[in-house]
Amino acid sequence: MTCETRTTCPYCGVGCGVIASIDDTGTVSVRGDPEHPANFGRLCSKGSALAETLDEDGRALFPEIYGQRANWDTALDLVADRFSRTIAEHGPDSVAFYLSGQLLTEDYYVANKLMKGFIGSGNIDTNSRLCMASSVAGHRRAFGADTVPGTYEDLELADLVVLVGSNLAWCHPVLYQRLAAAKASRPAMKIVVIDPRRTATSDLADLHLSVRPDGDVALFNGLLTHLADTDRIDQGFVGRHTTGFSDALLAASRMSMADLAEATGLSGMLIRQFFWLFASTERVVTCYSQGVNQSASGSDKVNAIINCHLATGRIGRQGMGPFSLTGQPNAMGGREVGGLANMLAAHMAIEDPQHRERVQRFWASPQIAGRPGLKAVDLFDAVADGRVKALWIMSTNPVVSMPDADKVKKAIEACPFVVVSDMQTNTDTARLAHVLLPATGWGEKSGTVTNSERRISRQRPFLAAPGEARPDWWHVTEVGKRMGFANAFDFDSPAAIFAEHAALSAFENDGARDFDIGAFAAINRDQYEALVPFQWPRPLAGAAKERFFADGQFYHPDGKARFVPVQPPLLPVELAHGTFVLNTGRVRDHWHTMTRTGKSARLSAHLAEPFCEIHPLDAAMHRIRDADLVKVANDEGHFILVRALLTERQARGSIFVPMHWTDETAFPARVDTLVKPDVDPVSGQPALKQSRVSLARH
Ligand code: SF4
Repeated sequence: MTCETRTTCPYCGVGCGVIASIDDTGTVSVRGDPEHPANFGRLCSKGSALAETLDEDGRALFPEIYGQRANWDTALDLVADRFSRTIAEHGPDSVAFYLSGQLLTEDYYVANKLMKGFIGSGNIDTNSRLCMASSVAGHRRAFGADTVPGTYEDLELADLVVLVGSNLAWCHPVLYQRLAAAKASRPAMKIVVIDPRRTATSDLADLHLSVRPDGDVALFNGLLTHLADTDRIDQGFVGRHTTGFSDALLAASRMSMADLAEATGLSGMLIRQFFWLFASTERVVTCYSQGVNQSASGSDKVNAIINCHLATGRIGRQGMGPFSLTGQPNAMGGREVGGLANMLAAHMAIEDPQHRERVQRFWASPQIAGRPGLKAVDLFDAVADGRVKALWIMSTNPVVSMPDADKVKKAIEACPFVVVSDMQTNTDTARLAHVLLPATGWGEKSGTVTNSERRISRQRPFLAAPGEARPDWWHVTEVGKRMGFANAFDFDSPAAIFAEHAALSAFENDGARDFDIGAFAAINRDQYEALVPFQWPRPLAGAAKERFFADGQFYHPDGKARFVPVQPPLLPVELAHGTFVLNTGRVRDHWHTMTRTGKSARLSAHLAEPFCEIHPLDAAMHRIRDADLVKVANDEGHFILVRALLTERQARGSIFVPMHWTDETAFPARVDTLVKPDVDPVSGQPALKQSRVSLARH
């Protein structure tokens, strides 16, 4: 007999439905869920290889204290005691949690509750800071809340889809498949790709703009000016539903076409072609991803894009709108429960005393964080200089993924007390743990995730947890109880946590307006088990509210959206001879630091080792041939050794190195050791795509 379980893929923000089957022999197979509205049965290479990643090789099977096996009570008592004593001696801000967009919403909720409501610090940040913090900041500035207005269907309904800093074909493959199918059925649909690299996504494009790194603000400012000059502004929408248009236009209008060409690195002809397409097409969706977010001007890029949609009233309607594509499987769920250092649960603002009072009253907590906590880069700086003395890292590998990764590694090594909750014992970060708590993973865990179009789906278990592994939410609640907060953390299931999360979302929520999500506050286990994918928020009765802002009402107190005046960053100083702009990112078949995808030989076969994409002319100048071993180094003397991959898809003067590999390969390959920790001043998101490096054949 074969047992089937409906669950959700644990990788990217598309959030595809998966049917996992186990036959009589215990063999697992997976296929796409034809009824899931994100993928309608499709899966990409990573999703379809999930069954190959379920072995116990390298799994954390029992708690460890200083590398020695321990029982759960001893480990949890130690964690609670060390955190409590550190807080008593040095205050709440002397401890920190660093979470992950891989965690389920229920894990995220209890961790936020413990840190913000009971420890009383905002020091809880997440690898989502590396992923979409600039979109969050841009949304909050424009809309008054971190709200993604669009749906996947909008990409299929649009007549023009603009993809900015997004290699959709590799990073959101099933959404790419949906877009490709829509274009095949409606060939008149146009696709513009704005990306310094000519990626696999560019193959679908009618127009590829190989924009200069960080030239996006100038490009969209130029577009706003063009829309005004050609009388394409929706004056009625702008007048009724927005403020700040004239200031944004004034800021945008300071560049001539020659300046614009210089700032973007594009010809006037290409720029005009793009402007004409955007201006003359009513149904436009502009998607943006890490090429926009992972920049020192990421928030301004997001607002430059949103400004153009507000100016034309192209938002909240079918086939139109700005659309942030989240990288991780649950970056959106984390945002809903306040998963960043500068947010509170249910999209409330940590800076707002009324919001803080409301959340504290709901939680009946002894205190509440009075100000935003440390964002990822600052958080690890505080670990390095000793301000943070106890650190709990859950489900992420910052020793590989943070910028200036060697500094982060040294900071964690020097931290007096480090707890790591992880499935694996052998990650670069787990190896530094004083206490390692074994976590359950995909196929074993139960909870919810929210995808890029705000669709909540269930992850359901179909395998027994190996050894003594337990879910992350359980780790947190057991520590919370041991720190003296037994009532507040007396959860017996993810269903109970989800119900409280829903109740908090609805609590005195005048922002809910025409929908009420309080219905889920009374959800019982059976109903939770039976949840089918739905878009959040959902009215008490009837279908989900598909698109935000369809009524022209935004979340600022006056109900109006804000144009944000933005200025392009200064043009970078000319690259010194022999130096390059380092762009980092994903490959098609691996995920993050490969702790799961690295288990599949099929996935590793696509690109078997770390590499560096170089334009052939740049390579020739450095006497580098295809497949040569290349040393990529930064000014601080950090270097990695990777294979040269010569390709004209790479723009001159820049190189691309994937983010996945660690130093476990034959040569040092942690590319983030080369990345400077420059951050966007508004969002705190690191600029992971614009470091300066030199190149030499090894
Ligand atoms: Fe999983 Fe993303 Fe692939 Fe869908 S597109 S199967 S969510 S990795």
